[in-house]
Amino acid sequence: MEIASVIVDVPTKQTDRAFDYLIPDQWRETIQPGMRVIVPFGPRNIQGFVVELKKKSELKQLREIIEPMDLEPVLNHELLALGNWLTETTLCFKIFAFQVMLPAALKAKYEKMVKLAPGVGLDSLPSPLRAFFSKDGKLDWADALNQGIVSLLQKETAKGHLEVNYIVKEKVKKKQRKYIRPHVPLAALKEEMERLPANADKQKQVLNYFVEHFTAVELRQLVAEVNATASTVKALVGKKLLAEEEMEVYRDPYEHRTFERTKPLPLTKDQQTTIVPILNALEQNLHEVFLLYGVTGSGKTEIYLQSIQEVIEKGQEAIVLVPEISLTPQMVNRFKGRFGDLVAVLHSGLSAGEKYDEWRKIQRKEVKVVVGARSAIFAPFENLGIIIIDEEHETSYKQEEMPRYHARDVAIERAKTYSCPVILGSATPSLESFARAQKKVYHLLSLPSRMNNQPLPAVEIIDMREELREGNRSMFSRKLFEMLKDRLEKQQQSVLFLNKRGHSSFVMCRDCGYVMNCPNCDISLTYHRVNEQMKCHYCGYESFVPKVCPECSSEYIRYFGTGTQKVEDELGKILPEARIIRMDVDTTGRKGSHERLLRDFQDGKADILLGTQMIAKGLDFPNITLVGVLSADTMLHLPDFRASEKTFQLLTQVSGRAGRHQLPGEVIIQTYTPEHYSVELAGTQDYDLFYQKEMMIRKTHHYPPFYYLSLITVSHDQLLAVVTATEKIVNYVRLRLSDEAVILGPAASPIPRINNRYRYQCLIKYKREPNLTETLKTILDQYQKDTKSGLQVSIDVNPFILM
Ligand code: ADP
Ligand code: ZN
Ligand code: ZN
Repeated sequence: MEIASVIVDVPTKQTDRAFDYLIPDQWRETIQPGMRVIVPFGPRNIQGFVVELKKKSELKQLREIIEPMDLEPVLNHELLALGNWLTETTLCFKIFAFQVMLPAALKAKYEKMVKLAPGVGLDSLPSPLRAFFSKDGKLDWADALNQGIVSLLQKETAKGHLEVNYIVKEKVKKKQRKYIRPHVPLAALKEEMERLPANADKQKQVLNYFVEHFTAVELRQLVAEVNATASTVKALVGKKLLAEEEMEVYRDPYEHRTFERTKPLPLTKDQQTTIVPILNALEQNLHEVFLLYGVTGSGKTEIYLQSIQEVIEKGQEAIVLVPEISLTPQMVNRFKGRFGDLVAVLHSGLSAGEKYDEWRKIQRKEVKVVVGARSAIFAPFENLGIIIIDEEHETSYKQEEMPRYHARDVAIERAKTYSCPVILGSATPSLESFARAQKKVYHLLSLPSRMNNQPLPAVEIIDMREELREGNRSMFSRKLFEMLKDRLEKQQQSVLFLNKRGHSSFVMCRDCGYVMNCPNCDISLTYHRVNEQMKCHYCGYESFVPKVCPECSSEYIRYFGTGTQKVEDELGKILPEARIIRMDVDTTGRKGSHERLLRDFQDGKADILLGTQMIAKGLDFPNITLVGVLSADTMLHLPDFRASEKTFQLLTQVSGRAGRHQLPGEVIIQTYTPEHYSVELAGTQDYDLFYQKEMMIRKTHHYPPFYYLSLITVSHDQLLAVVTATEKIVNYVRLRLSDEAVILGPAASPIPRINNRYRYQCLIKYKREPNLTETLKTILDQYQKDTKSGLQVSIDVNPFILM
């Protein structure tokens, strides 16, 4: 084929299509779809993905591909098609859809160079400039900026003396090590060894090593074993008796750890009933989505492991997604323990190089299982047998930047292609998934009780209004304080959980727990300190901040929020003897710190683990007998229709951390709204009742899973421009959609200004709107092409964060 269609790495509307390039003769055999290539684009050389090869192009004057960047495709046919699907369903630029599937290391870094134009000599430049150029007529752009000679360069460029080049560099090199191997047959090696003069003792020893081990060995190891120097070895390489080669080695983050191999456990009755339909689907190569609904500790992971076992025995591959924060060593151990070297692990704690190495293992089919966070869903397997998503309700499975995809949707799309099952597992399934299971779109499988029928921990809900009334103004209730002290004495461990997310800027009455809600939307109003106002970010409703509580007339009505640091200080005062480990974004920023803090806690180096939601998952230590939630309310009043669902899920998860082993566990939940159903039902751990209540509310207010959502966000540095544009968009959407669709806005976004850009939004709720995708595309087309106006429009189909 002579022509390649290429998606170029220029994320704009105008360039969001394939461009045709001529393949130079020398590359005709090499270039294939799914490879990255360097192509000329305007005045620059840039990177692109080959999506198609063809014989003819509509266009006459084609430019030539400069060179390929890969020797084999980085995206196979399935992933190329998946990229198109992503583009269609999330309305993103094609280049983003392809890039998201690759490890960061493969995203090219550009280095800008200024170069003499062809045929121009250094002496054509004015003398003050010459000194900055290298002998071969090049100058690094960064240097040019540092030296402040840009305008001089500009003049010379205008004269045609200089041009600007982009040099594409790979961010990460494969890690290479030097290996030495024999270069002649064994007999010849022996002969040469005899022939060496007596004073070449060291060389003799080296050759003798190869006579004894006739194979390649790493240079470092060789030098150490025969106690020789690298130069001795070099001399023998020079004589062509030995040969040196670079071999790729993988950076293995788990290199220094051994994993105790585990065997499949005999399944309990419940587990057996549960796994049968999964094994059936595997046997018949059926695409089916299972919702595995089982309380924490009910044996879900064992089901995953045994299903994967089956997949491996069939010669197929498995993807397991877990939320980033539960990719703890404990979780990884379970998979590595069962499947050893067949497992690759992908998470954000790895360096770009380590991630790249894990990805290469998958690409080369050296592993059969990948365990990873969201982006692992794009693992380049070609014979997928199962996809498992643990804690399927987690919001981190939705990517909040382009492409705004949900890993669950991608999983189902890939599983359809491979005709294989998907397992979604959770103790608190998302409402969307549970509703689908109720409608038999998903196959519901339940594990109703914990292993060995261990009881769930006892949960007590403490009314913090009561505490205040009785004169306790601290953030710890008397009960929680007593219990913390008790655990200290018994030398048992406690976990304290501060539910803090985003800005907890709602106004609450500390006497009666009253929170101001929007009368139209049933979400809490957000407090704006600047103009002392309360606002609804869905519909735009506004109200003043009350001086006294409208419910009970108390003056203790104020905005709410505490940080982990403050809690730690406070704890230090009331329990000075307690050893505390604090885990939040500040203490876990560095690589490996998350793991280290957890290990310290496991090793008993602290009595209390204090943290944000990152400690809610995956903790499974025998000595934890108390879990305290400092304020259950903070998440409840976020301007988000999922606030109740998230609160219920989180409280249930956190409670599940206590008493997972021999010692029974207790849970204390402090709250100002004990009567709220998501707090109350988390107390009794009654998901089914919660589901029923929440579904009724969703139905009344036209939220998912009854309605779909799409969110259009508009931003500009002029408030008037944003409002005008959003209004236009809202009117256009109204015109195009049916009367069944609910179109809200224009309203200020929950974060009304970012980086001095004002943000407005239009929220669309709908059931069936055949025109919607076209309408949204038209809007994007219109605004993304018009770069002069300075307006930015982004669209999130099925948004998770309505900010
Ligand atoms: P979940 O994933 O639902 O939280 P796990 O699979 O982690 O549950 O199981 C909880 C505990 O029970 C683990 O320690 C696990 O090793 C153990 N377990 C699971 N299945 C069995 C079984 N069939 N027999 C004995 N122990 C089991
Ligand atoms: Zn009140
Ligand atoms: Zn409202």
